[in-house]
Amino acid sequence: MVRKSVEMIHLEAVEIAKCYLGNEFKMVEILGRMHATRGFRDYSKKSLKRYAIECLNLSENVAETMITIVRKSIEVPQLKAAFSRGEIDISKTRRLASVVTRDNCADWIEFARTATLAELDRKIAGSRPFFDVKEVKIVRAKNRIERRFGVSTDLDKRLDRAQDLVSQKLRRPASFEATAEEMVEVFLNRHDPVRKAARAFSRRGGAGVKDGKPVARRVFEDAGENIPAEVIHEVNLRDGGQCTYVEDNGHRCQERRWLDFHHIIPVHRGGPHTAENLTTVCKAHHQLIHHNKN
Ligand SMILES: [Zn+2]
Ligand SMILES: [Zn+2]
Repeated sequence: MVRKSVEMIHLEAVEIAKCYLGNEFKMVEILGRMHATRGFRDYSKKSLKRYAIECLNLSENVAETMITIVRKSIEVPQLKAAFSRGEIDISKTRRLASVVTRDNCADWIEFARTATLAELDRKIAGSRPFFDVKEVKIVRAKNRIERRFGVSTDLDKRLDRAQDLVSQKLRRPASFEATAEEMVEVFLNRHDPVRKAARAFSRRGGAGVKDGKPVARRVFEDAGENIPAEVIHEVNLRDGGQCTYVEDNGHRCQERRWLDFHHIIPVHRGGPHTAENLTTVCKAHHQLIHHNKN
């Protein structure tokens, strides 16, 4: 039993929805014309998206959705046609834009008409041989970050296995975060040269690190010979496994990958393998230093 007062609201809502959906399509249409003429450039926008956001005040999400449909509809006009007839809504149309071609569009549109959005997503995912998930980090709170990345089904299985083992160890269901925490600790303890250095120093005196012996693997392009492990540990600990190069603006280089050790006084000029004569630099800065010297 619909109350009289509610029925008024309902009828008005139906009216507004009709306009709203009609306008959604008109918006896609007009963006299509702006795209075809590259008219956004006349308004000093580098892209249709910038134009839609900055000149039309569309939200980024809406702009992206509509422009995706505009672009795909050039190749597959049937997509826009189905959208204009109201057979598929804007969300489904956007999803379909990632899979339809002139040849397969009839089947896809037919499926999308009656499927839920979730069903459509599943079917689209199943039809893809590969999807390159972009790796992103989004700051969600002062000290919480959302990290997104894609994994193969094979890696996914191994991650599940690790999660099982961590749950077993903690005697409660481990979150993926707790699992990553365990995994990364094991990895860092084994491979982080800064941690290794800290360990070597904390057990100093024993542990077989003696002047000059044992020696570490040579990874330094300008080292004439091997550098004692003890010295490497000292440099790693001091420099924190980060490039020490300071830019003109006074900022220290943030690079923690592709690191070399650089001899301040070159070995061929008698520079010793001591911590004082060694510094951690990234590949790019290492090349720069040697370039400037020559
Ligand atoms: Zn060097
Ligand atoms: Zn650097």
